[in-house]
Amino acid sequence: MNRYDSERLVEILGEEQFVLVDDHRQADLIFINTCTVRDKAEQKAFSYLGRLKAVKRRRPELVVALGGCVAQQHGEDLLRRLPHLDLVVGTHGISEVPAMLARFETTGERQAFVEFGYDFGDAPDGRTYSWRPGVSAFVTIMRGCDNFCTYCIVPFVRGRERSRSSDEIIREVESLVERGVREVSLLGQNVNSYGQGVSGELDFAGLLRRVAQVDGLMRIRFTTSHPKDLLPPLMRCFNDLEPLCPHIHLPVQSGSDRILQRMKRGYTRDHYLGLLTELRGIRKDVAVSSDMIVGFPGEGEDDFQQSLSLLEEARFDALFSFKYSDRPQTAACRLDGKVKEEVKLKRLQTLQSLQERITLKKNEAQVGQISRVLVEGPSQVGGSQLSGRTPQNRVVNFQGPPQLVGEEIPVLVTKAHAHSLEGVVCLEANASLKVVKERSWCGK
Ligand code: SF4
Repeated sequence: MNRYDSERLVEILGEEQFVLVDDHRQADLIFINTCTVRDKAEQKAFSYLGRLKAVKRRRPELVVALGGCVAQQHGEDLLRRLPHLDLVVGTHGISEVPAMLARFETTGERQAFVEFGYDFGDAPDGRTYSWRPGVSAFVTIMRGCDNFCTYCIVPFVRGRERSRSSDEIIREVESLVERGVREVSLLGQNVNSYGQGVSGELDFAGLLRRVAQVDGLMRIRFTTSHPKDLLPPLMRCFNDLEPLCPHIHLPVQSGSDRILQRMKRGYTRDHYLGLLTELRGIRKDVAVSSDMIVGFPGEGEDDFQQSLSLLEEARFDALFSFKYSDRPQTAACRLDGKVKEEVKLKRLQTLQSLQERITLKKNEAQVGQISRVLVEGPSQVGGSQLSGRTPQNRVVNFQGPPQLVGEEIPVLVTKAHAHSLEGVVCLEANASLKVVKERSWCGK
């Protein structure tokens, strides 16, 4: 969500003749977009902001702005605490930034905007924006969350759940496809509750079916889903809709029913595992990633062992795991049974090393397979390597010419790593790749 907000900010400021620079020493405006889901992310934002104090002293004309969840959480108070901070832009304030900047430039007034406005922004029309999307783009379909899991600050900093109109979403997807986007990721805190409580609006499965009809759109992904809303009509989409990638991110958070109840997640371990069985029955090759928290208040050794055994049973393709940290305003802050930091750390390491073994095994099973890879751009490993993703969201690096960016090509997987795969473009596997041969490039 924050990445989407950053991209939208770049679009909006592009209209005001701002351009992105790599080096903050060249910047006229430094905008720090923040996350507050975990304490560590918040501390990092404050530490960076602290370093900017000396920069602002040297260059008083520099505008320093703080956006995102930390801005929403602390609001105007930040202006009092941090005299070198000029603008505080809450989670619903991105479209206010040009007006705030203009006011600051003319009056010097430091400002905070922390209202919940549910402004989704207009669908970009592709003519006025300086920013050009890449192969993949995010599209926000809803904001906020009504679930109030006891550890989570999101409902407090992102507000209550609100769905965007499906017509507006389709217009944005069409516009992105016209500008060369091949894959869209539908975004929201809880996408599969899309449309709930909005009379006459589609539900999430209905929205997926409409998006899948957009001409020229190659792939659809979505994130994040809540297990309680993973219902049969949505599961069937994985079988029925060709552009829908066989990958779902389905946070489980704990393998212990006692802890799931304390987290107020609204499902049991058995229910969650049952969903995976049902989904894998509908779409055999679906990949599942998840989130897990260790050291939630009251988590004993037995609860933790149940989280480990859930990993063994669920066989996730990837897992994002975190140590619990108290977040202000949340109910879990007030729960007893806080787990010691060193215990949390040890549990996290144990959990992560188990998952690494599972992920590596799953990746190794890909070796020798040919996968359709949507080429995204140069690989982070450097050289002339390109990088792309399989429909199951696995990253594959391989040698290839830059002309392949934006193409979906068959790649033979030759090697597996913990977080990525290596492969070679498999020209003979797809006659349509003749064009690549004609560009006189020779893959192995
Ligand atoms: S469903 Fe997700 S975003 Fe909503 S409260 Fe729970 S963890 Fe937070």
